[in-house]
Amino acid sequence: MDRGDYILLKILRYDATEPTVEPHFESYRVRIIPGLTILTILLRIRDEIDGTLAFRSSCRSAVCGSCAMVINGKIDLSCRVQAASFGTNTIILEPLPNLRVIKDLVVDMTPFWNMYEKVKPFLIRKSPGPDKELPQSDEERKRIDQYANCILCACCYGACPVLARNPDYVGPAALAKLERFVLDSRDDRPASFIENVNDDRGVWGCDMILRCIDACPKDVRPPDSIVGLRKQLLKLRIKKLFRKKGQE
Ligand code: SF4
Repeated sequence: MDRGDYILLKILRYDATEPTVEPHFESYRVRIIPGLTILTILLRIRDEIDGTLAFRSSCRSAVCGSCAMVINGKIDLSCRVQAASFGTNTIILEPLPNLRVIKDLVVDMTPFWNMYEKVKPFLIRKSPGPDKELPQSDEERKRIDQYANCILCACCYGACPVLARNPDYVGPAALAKLERFVLDSRDDRPASFIENVNDDRGVWGCDMILRCIDACPKDVRPPDSIVGLRKQLLKLRIKKLFRKKGQE
């Protein structure tokens, strides 16, 4: 794509406060230069062409995770996708799937946050920590590295085929976060805490279709956490069985 090229951005428009107006695509013709991201173009459209266009954004650096959407059929952060990367002059933007649309590209993240809250995504300590810090070795840190990279963008949540049919499923991001704290050397939650996800709404709900891996912009692999949690649950079950036998 050369300096001075134009692209046609087709954006799915919808306003939940005007439910009589069906979702529909609106097109915007925008001049672009190499290096321009989808988010920069959206900001320009909102500032110069159509102030009613709704989308979320903040850091513009793939850190805050707020600008996730479907870009030409693929879920990604709009701030890290260059318009020229598609080799086509038409780009279609749609809101993140599996979440209710509030307006245009803005979805209601409440179910995502509710699931996240369920796994208690913070350090649980038996006793108050030391005054300064709780150090970790390199090895201990490596165990949680990939999960600590999660920016809570919900790309995996939007890509998950299980959530598409079962909104009660806790979802890939929450399970990855749970494993992040279970593996954390500083966390003291009891081993039995993971029983909270020991059903079809938790770790056993995942079909291992692995779309969450493709969708994640931070190379987190939620299925690794699901496999890890399943193994720990099986170990717990075996321990319980032996304990029971010992009592007989
Ligand atoms: Fe986003 Fe990846 Fe975290 Fe899912 S696991 S919320 S895709 S960063």
